[in-house]
Amino acid sequence: MVPVIALVGRPNVGKSTLFNRLTRSRDAIVADYSGLTRDRKYGEAKWQGRTYIVIDTGGISGDEEGIDAKMAEQSLQAIEEADAVLFMVDSRAGMTAADQMIAEHLRKKNKCTFLVANKVDTVDPDIARAEFSPLAIGDAWPIAAAHGRGITALLQAALGEFPKDEVEEEEFPEGEAAEGAEGAAAAAPQKRLPGPDERTGIKIAIIGRPNVGKSTLVNRMLGEERVIVYDQAGTTRDSIYIPFERDDAKYTLIDTAGVRRRGKIFEAVEKFSVVKTLQAIQDANVVVFVMDAREGVVDHDLNLLGFVLETGRALVIALNKWDGMDNHERERVKTELERRLQFVDFADIHFISALHGTGVGNLYKSVQESFRSAVTRWPTSYLTQVLEDAVSVHQPPLVNGRRIKLRYAHLGGANPPLIVIHGNQVDAVPRAYSRYLENTYRRVLKLVGTPIRIEFKGGE
Ligand code: GDP
Ligand code: GDP
Repeated sequence: MVPVIALVGRPNVGKSTLFNRLTRSRDAIVADYSGLTRDRKYGEAKWQGRTYIVIDTGGISGDEEGIDAKMAEQSLQAIEEADAVLFMVDSRAGMTAADQMIAEHLRKKNKCTFLVANKVDTVDPDIARAEFSPLAIGDAWPIAAAHGRGITALLQAALGEFPKDEVEEEEFPEGEAAEGAEGAAAAAPQKRLPGPDERTGIKIAIIGRPNVGKSTLVNRMLGEERVIVYDQAGTTRDSIYIPFERDDAKYTLIDTAGVRRRGKIFEAVEKFSVVKTLQAIQDANVVVFVMDAREGVVDHDLNLLGFVLETGRALVIALNKWDGMDNHERERVKTELERRLQFVDFADIHFISALHGTGVGNLYKSVQESFRSAVTRWPTSYLTQVLEDAVSVHQPPLVNGRRIKLRYAHLGGANPPLIVIHGNQVDAVPRAYSRYLENTYRRVLKLVGTPIRIEFKGGE
């Protein structure tokens, strides 16, 4: 399960600065779903082969009244959801009453907490450490978020214990370029690419905003009697993993709606949680993204879809509640989808009714196809052939009078497929050309339902 790190502290200590640095300003998920408090931001981050989720909180200032309520509202939730808390203080400003109050709360919580003294570019780190030692949260980690100082040591402490991701994209040794495609094929250790997992089958996460029909769909897909025991104990943060079989294929459904068996029926017992959603996306092979056709595409959908795209998971889109809509409404929704979902145009879209079961069975074909696209191991010789053909149709541009040379390609990862292209002057490959190659690979390899990553590697 992907670890979750929460940034907590009063306003202006530098939480957003650190958040942006850690997530490298990828799109943040803003939790302003109805029923949830505003102002929490969620982002995906990577550090030394570990993917983790960072939560930024708005901040707790000592001046407001009803501080406990504030705390309870959003920072508390973030603390609850987190595996580790980075409690940030401002070295320049020194210790404040608000810091002490937050510290007291965190001590009671017994969470794994790191005291982080930010802005040590303005103050001697040792003085900062001494200043905040009365907070009794342990030794402060001195950092300067704005300048990237001290962050590696902090992350080592906060994340070092968590296991690395299964796939390490950086795994392929450099320097094999001179040997050409043949040598690269031998050098590329593809054994760590994830393939179908015998135990779980295809892991499908059912994702979507509250009330779009996730639990109804889960019930539909499981058809009640197939279910083994899954009424596992867990915190509100955990999704439920439900293994099942259909047409001799194995699947595991990752249920974020928290459907539990109650007698003969299943009902949702837990509320929507962003962390649960993000972790389920990370852990899935294929995301079935559920939207409510009656509401059309709303910003929260796009926000969550952006995160799915970022993780590179295979994607199938289900427009639910298609029942009882007239033709005029349906046309309007389809036009809107075309316009607003262009950025995920690789994904199949299904129009379904989870309530009546219409179209639900068809989801499996797309799940199978997108999974196949996401995990097939294409041989180096084939990927190189596709590259050569693409280059002969449409050459890369000249840079400083020399033509960019792309020499061979191999697979560097799966789910999403990562195609590593070796050549010269690769830093100068224009985005448009990279997109041309991506489109060519997508067409030739018949990839559906999965994003593709292209990475260039230099070397004369
Ligand atoms: P937040 O309210 O806790 O999210 O704080 P921000 O990230 O918005 O930062 C508050 C202010 O502190 C901004 O003006 C930042 O530029 C500044 N700041 C953040 N990190 C550093 C740092 O490492 N050194 C210095 N000198 N200023 C910083
Ligand atoms: P969740 O919060 O995403 O798990 O959504 P639920 O499965 O609890 O569904 C929310 C509401 O939408 C419930 O009242 C469902 O009965 C209703 N609903 C779900 N699927 C459909 C559908 O396909 N058609 C219609 N008309 N209503 C649906």
